[in-house]
Amino acid sequence: MSDTNTLHVAILPSSGMGHLVPAVRLAASLAARNCRITFITTHPTVSLAESRLVSRLVSFFPNVTRQEFHLLPLDRSTANSNDPFCLQFETIRRSAHLLSPILSSCSPPLSALVTDPSLVSAVIPITEKLRLANYNLFIASPKMLSLLIYFPTIANTDLSTTSSKTTDYIEIPGIPPLPKSWLPPPLVDPSSLFRTQFIANGQEIVKSDGILVNAFDSLDKATVAALNGGKVMGRLPPVITVGPFVPLEFEKGSPVEWLDRQPVGSVVYVCFGNRTAASREQIRELGDGLERSGCRFLWVVKEKKVDREDEEEVGEIVGHGFLERVKEKGLVVKSWVEQGEVLAHPAVGLFLSHCGWNSITEAALYGVPILGWPQGGDQKINGEVIPKSGLGIWVETWGWEEIVKGEEIGDKIREMMGDEKLKVQAARIGEEARKSVGVGGSSYKGLEGLVEKMRKGR
Ligand code: UDP
Ligand code: UDP
Repeated sequence: MSDTNTLHVAILPSSGMGHLVPAVRLAASLAARNCRITFITTHPTVSLAESRLVSRLVSFFPNVTRQEFHLLPLDRSTANSNDPFCLQFETIRRSAHLLSPILSSCSPPLSALVTDPSLVSAVIPITEKLRLANYNLFIASPKMLSLLIYFPTIANTDLSTTSSKTTDYIEIPGIPPLPKSWLPPPLVDPSSLFRTQFIANGQEIVKSDGILVNAFDSLDKATVAALNGGKVMGRLPPVITVGPFVPLEFEKGSPVEWLDRQPVGSVVYVCFGNRTAASREQIRELGDGLERSGCRFLWVVKEKKVDREDEEEVGEIVGHGFLERVKEKGLVVKSWVEQGEVLAHPAVGLFLSHCGWNSITEAALYGVPILGWPQGGDQKINGEVIPKSGLGIWVETWGWEEIVKGEEIGDKIREMMGDEKLKVQAARIGEEARKSVGVGGSSYKGLEGLVEKMRKGR
């Protein structure tokens, strides 16, 4: 039993900034509520961005202790994936037995472990043996959570898309049918490692003590209600909304001073997250679109999935002529920008986003309209909330299959930058977001209730 006065919680994130960032923000929220946190960091990390963030966390929060978790090497011949982040999920999963001594030696004793959806089935047997409460920090949308929970039931049905409209949807009880074409592509490939992990995690997540989602009422209240009302599946753990997570002071890098010189609401911010690489051809079309839009822009370009491999210089990627032509209007960078700081800047009027869940919630927090362009994985399923909530649009004909032409991109940007109604709607969502995380708001209460529940133990 743990000392009732000191709540000590371990947090184990998975790989990639989309997983690490929300875990770090949760750690800070719990530390601010007088919890002691052991933050378990896996070694080695895939990206430089991950190792930089982790090393800053501990120096800013005295209540947070870092515990290194050294991973066993992965036998690649037994893991069918080309994705370095998915392979890292597998590496952590296969090293999970090494967690037991780490968790049981924590002092004061732990009350709970918070882990990640990609690790859940490997970690639950460990926490069960230690009789330790296990919470899941779900890092994508409530719809994606419904899919994870229900997927094992439909995994062996035909998931391919056909010309017949009736079979082109999957039916998850309690939520509207989801087009099969929105499924993350590896889920449709029977031999993919991601699919194997996803099925195992979907089966086990129902055994956790609670699932935390980075969402709030404006971002898919109906799905959260369906999950908590037993409609998606009976006997689920409570789904607790704790979002949107607020970017932390210590995440800040050097500010993008260029933004300070731009008029209010005049800049389109373009970023596709921490692990989405675009083809050179699509990058050139996107550049053409930005130029045609006539708007100012801040564009984070990414040509390689893993940051340490991205060696080409910006001019080579987007074209030196392009840089010269747009130098009065646009800033193109390859380095990491602190996205929270950018979205909070009054100069930013539109976010062209890949629909990573953290990005959507950050735009919601700062009331910035989104032009959604899913690039892979869970992004179509996440992106659905953008038009539904009124935060922006998602052009469904822009997918991950074909190159989108600059002319089309430019037209859409211009249209959205001139849409005053959209700006008002997005600002209203921002107000609701800030209310939900403010004292007495729904997510504030969600976190308070979580701490209370953890204190009571299993
Ligand atoms: N991010 C950032 N600067 C960048 C790129 C990404 O701060 O240059 C952050 C972004 O704010 C978000 C996370 O990295 O918190 C990316 O997560 P998301 O779920 O949006 O997408 P993913 O990268 O997982 O596809
Ligand atoms: N995911 C999951 N179970 C798994 C692996 C991934 O639920 O076994 C979810 C994850 O939460 C996210 C989506 O699948 O919603 C895509 O995950 P990935 O990490 O590949 O993408 P990222 O968010 O890093 O872009």
